[in-house]
Amino acid sequence: MRFISLQSGSSGNCLFVESGETRLLFDAGLTGAQTEQRLAALGIDINTIEAVILSHSHCDHTKGAGVLLRKYARPLWMTGGTYHHILAMRKVGQIGTPHFFRPEATLQFGSLTIETIPTMHDAPEGVCFVVDDGKKRLGIMTDLGCRFGALKEAITTLDGILIESDYDPVMLKNGPYDKSLQDRIRGSKGHLSNRECAELLRDAGRKLRWACLGHLSGNNNTPELALETHRQILGRKLPLYVASRRETSPVLEL
Ligand SMILES: [Zn+2]
Ligand SMILES: [Zn+2]
Repeated sequence: MRFISLQSGSSGNCLFVESGETRLLFDAGLTGAQTEQRLAALGIDINTIEAVILSHSHCDHTKGAGVLLRKYARPLWMTGGTYHHILAMRKVGQIGTPHFFRPEATLQFGSLTIETIPTMHDAPEGVCFVVDDGKKRLGIMTDLGCRFGALKEAITTLDGILIESDYDPVMLKNGPYDKSLQDRIRGSKGHLSNRECAELLRDAGRKLRWACLGHLSGNNNTPELALETHRQILGRKLPLYVASRRETSPVLEL
């Protein structure tokens, strides 16, 4: 299984997973043109993407979804809650009739099985994912809200993970956001801090071969600070990567 972050963070999320002939995108937070170009730079034709699966409705995960459907005819998959919220926000344009799944549903695309796990994040019927190719299990886990039981349980089964390490609490407190936005981010329906993320990884299963930190805040975190906090809690053993907020990150394999 190959995993590539085309971008991860509050300005746009789009993640590529490939196994054998099966190619999927998780989230559509880049423009259609950016998605096409970044895939092309990796030698991947956007028309070979079998499905685009959305985690939740927020713009940083969905703003390119309409174009991926209308211009590239890529099938969109989402929960009913995501669909209705996207329509209500009126920022994505027409998305036709997508393929729906229930939170907690298991999806199958070629050799890949996708388990969907409801999150506590403040979007209707938002989910995170475990991608299973029959041999290895990859977690795609951002916009989580808090560290809920099903999340912790899933993490113990993983071989690799892209996980949100959104903010440093001191930077958030001293940063540009007003109190209500700060409260939203650190609340139980917001995002995970560097420390919260690192503690989850500390309790992960023995199989975990690497972790890629994602969804870093541009205002309230830096890659250096995120890595420092993780190293303090995890030591040196686990290979750690940080997904870029602006560009494609290196290929990670399982
Ligand atoms: Zn997000
Ligand atoms: Zn979100």
